[in-house]
Amino acid sequence: MIPFFAFLFGCIMGSFLNVVILRLHTGRSLNGRSHCMSCGSQLRAIDLVPLFSFLVLRGRCRDCTSRISSRYFIVEVTTGILFALIAAQFFAIPFLWALFSIVVALLVVVFVYDLRHTIIPNEAVLLLTLCAAAFLSYQYVQGAGISLVYNIAAAVLASGIFATLWLVSRGRWIGLGDAKLMLPLGLFLSASGTLSFIVLAFWIGTLYVGVVALTKTIAKRLVHNHFSLPRYTMRSEVPFGPFLIVGFFLVLLAHVDILTLTQSFADATTRLVYLWLLK
Ligand SMILES: [Zn+2]
Repeated sequence: MIPFFAFLFGCIMGSFLNVVILRLHTGRSLNGRSHCMSCGSQLRAIDLVPLFSFLVLRGRCRDCTSRISSRYFIVEVTTGILFALIAAQFFAIPFLWALFSIVVALLVVVFVYDLRHTIIPNEAVLLLTLCAAAFLSYQYVQGAGISLVYNIAAAVLASGIFATLWLVSRGRWIGLGDAKLMLPLGLFLSASGTLSFIVLAFWIGTLYVGVVALTKTIAKRLVHNHFSLPRYTMRSEVPFGPFLIVGFFLVLLAHVDILTLTQSFADATTRLVYLWLLK
């Protein structure tokens, strides 16, 4: 029951985050009713209900029937799901529950903002680092000893390596924002968790670029037309922040461990080769 209410609250939060993402760095305040992007007509109170309004209006403006980006809907649902997962994992410890709900909200903003502008907002990274500091203090009070030192060292090391890569490549391989984001994300995880989420981010990123390239090739072959799919190379054009964030949530919420994963993959391969040799 708690995760369900957390989902509903997350959807409302997602609706607010949509406004934050849209108005961040534009100098517009966060109050004031939202407008239709096309005709500028003010949204009615009923149209502000998360999820529901998008479904009822079938993704179109009530006045000019122009399409409303499905991004708003996706952000609301995703925030809802993440809030539910956080509630399910941390509801026994209200402090961590609240803390990680804030972390989710900040990361949703970073994810979409980086996707749209290939920029990771400094304010969000700063707030995340403050949350990480609160998390470390909590662990310290709870009696976590030397492991905390390892965790902090791993996060600083990861962030430092990527900052060096940024410096050496003059921002072509990796953005400085990615290096900055790695610090708070690493501080929330154990040393092996930090390794896991970075490796996962690379795997997912490579997979994504591969799938986009493949889809584009197939689409070109099928229809002799240019599709407006995003054109990516493995250069800095691809925002890396979203992949880091997905990797982070896989480790935090699904406890994916890269060492166990590669170990079981190696075991399975060995077993297959062994079976094949026995034949
Ligand atoms: Zn309109």
